Amino acid sequence: MISTILSKNQQFDIILISGEYYDDHPLSPVGIIARVLDAKGYSVGIIEKPKTKEDFTRLGTPKLFFGVTPGTVDSMLYNYTPLKRSRMQDPHSFITEIPVRAVIFYCNKLREYFPGCQLVIGGVEASLRRFAHYDYWDNKIRKSILLDSRANILVYGNGEKQIIEIAKRVKEKKELKGIPGTCVLSKELPPGFSLLPAFQEIKGEDENSKISFCKMQTLFTLHKNLAQEYDNNYVLQYQSPQYTAMDLDWIYSLPYSRKLHPKSLLRMAKFSIVTHRGCIGRCNFCSITLHQSDKIISRSEGNILEEIKRLAQHPEFKGYVDDLGGPAANMYGMDCAVSCRRACLSCPKLDRSHARLIQLLRTARKIPRIKKIFVRSGVRYDLALESKEYLRELSDHHLSGCLKIAPEHFSKRVLQLMNKNYGDFDEFLKQFNVLNQDKKQSLRYYLMIGHPGDDEKETKFLVNKVKELQNVEQFQLFTPTPMTVSTCMYWTGLNPFTLKRVKVLHSFREKKKLRDMLLRVIRKPNPE
Ligand code: SF4
Repeated sequence: MISTILSKNQQFDIILISGEYYDDHPLSPVGIIARVLDAKGYSVGIIEKPKTKEDFTRLGTPKLFFGVTPGTVDSMLYNYTPLKRSRMQDPHSFITEIPVRAVIFYCNKLREYFPGCQLVIGGVEASLRRFAHYDYWDNKIRKSILLDSRANILVYGNGEKQIIEIAKRVKEKKELKGIPGTCVLSKELPPGFSLLPAFQEIKGEDENSKISFCKMQTLFTLHKNLAQEYDNNYVLQYQSPQYTAMDLDWIYSLPYSRKLHPKSLLRMAKFSIVTHRGCIGRCNFCSITLHQSDKIISRSEGNILEEIKRLAQHPEFKGYVDDLGGPAANMYGMDCAVSCRRACLSCPKLDRSHARLIQLLRTARKIPRIKKIFVRSGVRYDLALESKEYLRELSDHHLSGCLKIAPEHFSKRVLQLMNKNYGDFDEFLKQFNVLNQDKKQSLRYYLMIGHPGDDEKETKFLVNKVKELQNVEQFQLFTPTPMTVSTCMYWTGLNPFTLKRVKVLHSFREKKKLRDMLLRVIRKPNPE
């Protein structure tokens, strides 16, 4: 049973505190966790965006624990623009109201109103702040959020398996140590853990501290037990559990009503379908590798097709699937049985044929009541170049006027530091234009300025390309978010893998210069 209301004489097993509105939807992290716990027989209460004591206490005390998550994005990104201006005052970029440092804020309130209650933290904010990290908004190194929030346990990644195990252990009054995919505090350092540089070693601004910070960055992985020392404590990370196609099939087969909150962020994605998790891109500015997975886990075709058939029976469904995809739409089916630690994008064993995806799209289009299936997730153009057939399928059947790709930049140096120097963009552009010349379909670009290594000289490459492309509408300014390689470069001025110096622009004046260079050539002004 899942509810946002407490009925008389009722006590929930678990209460979820969410920084986002609650949607009973497979694209909502809280929506999924609630359905998973419900499927395991727990009663789940949900409190959305609490502010006052009344908000926090209106569902009473849970029998087992509070689960706390700001949602899909770090609350600092919701609150501040890349130039650290408050979004509250910025109508162009206001997204949703959420407290600053939401995990810590919510936990402090729960500790105040429910002393002794078990607190479980999760979501992107907790996950990527699980170890010591550079915080752009404080411009300093912060401790693990596990210490700052005083939570009992931290779940990293999507967390379905973890939350089921935690609920079982709390119910059976067992300890919470040893659960794969979680972090806890420990006075002892158990055997089998790789030690990261201690907080004391990395928190400083001197050269040695920054070199230790780089070392920490190169040791980060989901696939190992890691430990970091703090004074007389250790933050212990238990390696991530393996998620399989069967796990995802079960998670996405749960009976989501797809009922959205009136102010939901998913309004444009009500009839979207997730086909896989993970990303093999390993872009240095992205954290999916250390949150979800650097390998692809694809659902089974049958399970996805069943979900589309269920969608077609939904009373509000008009025949249009809003999106069929994942972190990168065209990585579906690029699972690999070897699952080693190497980088798939440069591996000869990677299946780049797109065969499973093409077959899925063709079969799905034939399902009764399906008028059109859109692909609105971004596509990796370097991989799409490997399959003309896929690009034709996409262009002929699945675009809503545009295809989103993420070249990010056109300076070789910057692309290298982004680890995004793959594929021949001009060749892709040529192929796309040939396939779409009479279809009024165009490309939309994700572009980024201000990444470590970027400066006026490098941005000129981007400006010249944008002039050539003539339909660029927006770009983003690099924001250093916790736990990414690019953030390590931003803070240390070093490439963590080579310890070579990297030029980094820190001042707003320098960043605005790059922004203005691009604003002068793009089609429509972009506020920031
Ligand atoms: S063998 Fe290659 S494709 Fe497979 S997991 Fe390893 S790097 Fe990736």
